[in-house]
Amino acid sequence: MADTIAAIATAMSTSGIGIVRLSGEDAREIVSKVYRSRSGKKDIREVRSHTIHYGFICDGEETIDEVLVMVMDGPSSYTAENTVEIDCHGGVLAMKRVLETVIKYGARPAEPGEFTKRAFLNGRIDLSQAEAVIDVISAKSEYALKSSVSQLKGAVLKIIKEIREKIIYHIAYIESALDDPEHIAIDGYGEELMKELQPLKKQVEKLLQSSDEGKMMKEGIKTVIVGKPNAGKSSLLNLLVGEERAIVTDIAGTTRDILEETIILHGISLCMIDTAGIRDTKDVVEQIGVGRAKKYAKDADLILYVVDSSIPLDENDDEIIGMLQDKKAIVLLNKTDLSMKVSEKELKKRLNQPVVEISAKEEKGIDVLEQVIKDMFFQGEISFNDEVYITNVRHRTALFETMESLTMVEQSISMGMPEDFYSIDLMNAYEALGSIIGESVGEDLVNEIFSKFCTGK
Ligand code: GDP
Repeated sequence: MADTIAAIATAMSTSGIGIVRLSGEDAREIVSKVYRSRSGKKDIREVRSHTIHYGFICDGEETIDEVLVMVMDGPSSYTAENTVEIDCHGGVLAMKRVLETVIKYGARPAEPGEFTKRAFLNGRIDLSQAEAVIDVISAKSEYALKSSVSQLKGAVLKIIKEIREKIIYHIAYIESALDDPEHIAIDGYGEELMKELQPLKKQVEKLLQSSDEGKMMKEGIKTVIVGKPNAGKSSLLNLLVGEERAIVTDIAGTTRDILEETIILHGISLCMIDTAGIRDTKDVVEQIGVGRAKKYAKDADLILYVVDSSIPLDENDDEIIGMLQDKKAIVLLNKTDLSMKVSEKELKKRLNQPVVEISAKEEKGIDVLEQVIKDMFFQGEISFNDEVYITNVRHRTALFETMESLTMVEQSISMGMPEDFYSIDLMNAYEALGSIIGESVGEDLVNEIFSKFCTGK
């Protein structure tokens, strides 16, 4: 039986209930390390197959979630392997923590479609059945891949591309030299390559470190602040960031004039994107402003629309209001310390979104804004990209693979192995990195078909 894989099998939504599924020889063994029954006496390794058990998932002393555990031994399970399903009750965060914990105790994060792939390989379902499942979910997984790649920070993408370019150069060189030994010299190439491996490994190591701290991704609810120049967007951002909340990151985004800051509001992480930088281009200001804002607002999970309430609405506001109709947004009537020319009623008539009166200058109304965001989040109206966390786990696995392959190249060179021997490892490193940025192709038909699945299926 194969190694034990784990994944969140249900959609991650703020609705609360979800299943973490394990499949493989050690499924019971791994769960037994983290499961505790109410009496503390039950051992998941000993229970009968196809039974359900109430209890808790714990990581050492820490209780992570109250759960129901379903044990289904192979071959009578979806994958035909030993399967354990953990029905989590504590919502998205608990689900992620449960997955993290079973991985910590020996499971491996499943590849997309790996559960179904196993079901197929174990003869539980035939290829046409598998393909039928693909049709249903491929749209979603394509979206997931795209969005998970777009979640990478520009700098990370750039580094991975650079490393890959270097690696492919060496692969190409070795292959050409082997093809055409008369014209391309390969003597001593190993030593040359050896010198370059160290810096490459350092770069991968750095990526691993940053993935560990969750810094590879733009995490949090993507929040975009829009509004006309001078409405008070920067003041609002400074106010939100400036208070005594933790500033997790402070980095210039992929586009130079966009500033991103991650702030934590009541435990909710918001990745704030301020489009205010466009003020500097004086002449075409307003139009560019609206244009840019539109672009960022399109992908936003939440939009904060700042209105200068001391001047009447104009055509730029019309445009912004137009684009906010079917988005999650909060309207902030700013500068309420001055005499108000725009009323909440006026805005409410044109936009079905919550309106909050604030004064960035006098720091008024911010607590109400925070409450509104919090309510929207916990009522499930806004959520951040579910794939981020899972992708992060997968990215880490890919980075580890890259490290391992590069280390193998080093070992092969120092052992005096022939070049074609380690060009395979170079290729593995190249592919592992490619899988992070969505540029890897499956090796054979089975892989290709099953890689179309979402994780957990
Ligand atoms: P942005 O262009 O939208 O980023 O606007 P800024 O944050 O740079 O603010 C534009 C101007 O409005 C600045 O002079 C601020 O001091 C001022 N301002 C911002 N918020 C308020 C407010 O609540 N009341 C008043 N009276 N002035 C404000």
